[in-house]
Amino acid sequence: MSYEQARWAEDDRYEPLLSEKDTTTVEVSDDGPLPEDLTRDSVELPALEEPELARHYTRLSQMNYGVESGPFPLGSCTMKYNPKFTEDLAALPSAGVHPDRDERTVQGLLGVMQGLQDYLARIGGMDAVTLQPPAGAAGEFAGVLVAKAYHDHNGEDRSEIVVPDSAHGTNFASAAMAGFDVVELPSAEDGRVDLDALEAAVSEETAALMLTNPNTLGLFERDIEEIADIVHDAGGLLYYDGANLNALLGQARPGDMGFDIMHYNVHKTFATPHGGGGPGAGPVGVVSDLAPFLPAPRVRETDDGGYERFDPAHTIGKVHGFEGNWLVLLKTYAYIARLGDSGLADASAKAVLNANYLAEQIEYDVPFGPFHHEFVASAGDQDAADVAKRMLDYGVHPPTTKWPEIVPEALMTEPTEIEGKRTLDQLATAFNAVAGEDDATLEAAPEATAARRIDQVAAARTPQLSWQALDDE
Ligand SMILES: *Cc1c(COP(=O)(O)O)cnc(C)c1O
Repeated sequence: MSYEQARWAEDDRYEPLLSEKDTTTVEVSDDGPLPEDLTRDSVELPALEEPELARHYTRLSQMNYGVESGPFPLGSCTMKYNPKFTEDLAALPSAGVHPDRDERTVQGLLGVMQGLQDYLARIGGMDAVTLQPPAGAAGEFAGVLVAKAYHDHNGEDRSEIVVPDSAHGTNFASAAMAGFDVVELPSAEDGRVDLDALEAAVSEETAALMLTNPNTLGLFERDIEEIADIVHDAGGLLYYDGANLNALLGQARPGDMGFDIMHYNVHKTFATPHGGGGPGAGPVGVVSDLAPFLPAPRVRETDDGGYERFDPAHTIGKVHGFEGNWLVLLKTYAYIARLGDSGLADASAKAVLNANYLAEQIEYDVPFGPFHHEFVASAGDQDAADVAKRMLDYGVHPPTTKWPEIVPEALMTEPTEIEGKRTLDQLATAFNAVAGEDDATLEAAPEATAARRIDQVAAARTPQLSWQALDDE
C-alpha cells in the first residue's frame, strides 16, 4: 500500500507527496555476512529532494496533536510540556556514550545515575532505587517480582495480589504476568478503598496490595495508614503505582504513608517525552528490607568518591541492560535538579489548583471529590468517546474517556501545572460548547482535523510503520 492509499486525510490540503512516479531503485551490496535469503540486491525508495522530505515529516507532525499543539488534559497521563534544555543535555556527545565503556571513563554519567537514585529515593520516601525498568508498567512488573523474591526468600509462598477495581489495567497485568492470582477489590461508595472489603480480601496468601494515591478519581486515600496496617498485619507488602505522583511532589511521600515499593513514571511526573512506546524509564524504589532483591546492576559511590556498579545480594536479575535508558534518565535528573525542592512542591500545588479551577468552570457533573491533580467528570447522556472526538474540533485535546468505569461516561481530566488561566478557560469553553451539542453533531465529529475517525483496532493490530511502493496492480 502506498502513502497515498494509507494517508488518513481525504483532504486536498494534503496532496499526496510520495507517489509511484517518485520512486527510485537503489542497488545495494549483498556481500555482507547475512544469509542470502535475508538480503536483497536492490531497494525501492521514494526519490525526493531534501525540502520535499522536510515538508513530508513536518506535515505528518501537523496531522497529529501533541502537547506543543495545545492543551492536553489526558487524565492519568500527566501530559506535561517537555522542557528543551533537557534535550540539549541528552544531545551532548559526552552523554551519548555506550554504557559498556570502562567504568573509569563514564564516572560523570554514573554520578548522574547515583544522583538520580538519591533524588527519587528522597522524593518517594524510599531507601533504594533501581533505574533499570524501561516504563511504568515494566517498573510494576519488576516491583512485583521483587515482592515475590522477598516472600520466597522468607520461605513464604504467597499467591495473591490485591488490586482495586479502579486501578490501571497494567496493575492487573503485572501481577498476573508475575504468576500471581489477582484479587479485585471493590471501591467504597465514596470512590475510595473500602476497608471492610480490604479486610475480607487479605489473608496469608496476600503478597501485596497495589494502590495509587490519589487514586484514579483524583481522590486521596485518607485511610492510607490504616490500609497499610491491614496489609502489613497480614504479612503483605504495599505497592505504590507512581502514575499520580504529580499530585504529591514535595507535599507527601509514599514511603511515609507505609508503601514498601513504588515505581516512578518519569514521562509523567518528570517531564520526559512520552515517546510513543519508548524509549522510556520507570525506576522502582523500595524500603531497605527489599533493596537486596532489586534488579542488577545498581550504581553506588565508592570509598574514594567515585562510582561503580554492583549486583544486589539477592537480585531478581536484569529487566533491561545496564541502568536502563540513560538519556531518558539524564533528562529526568536535569528536570528535578532544575526545579529543586521548592519547584517540585510548587508544580504539584499548581497541578492541583488547575484541576480544581477547571472543574469549577465546566458544566459536566463531577460526581466525586474533593480531588487533587485530576478529576473525573461524567458526560451524562452523551457518549464520552463522541465528546472526545468533538473537542478536537475546538482545538483542544480531549480528556481520557470511559475510565475509570466507576463514573458513567467518564471524562478523566488532568490539565497539569503547565497551563495558565487563559488556557484553562479555553479548555472550559471547549467542554461547555460540546456539552450543549446534540448527538448527531457529536457522532459526525471530528470535522476540523487532518484525520477523521480512524479504525483504532486496525491501527493497533496492523500498523503501517514504513513507506512501501505502490503494488503493480
Ligand atoms: C500510565 C499509568 C501506568 C503505566 O505506566 P507506563 O509508564 O505508561 O507503562 C500505570 N498506572 C497508572 C495509574 C497509569 O496512569
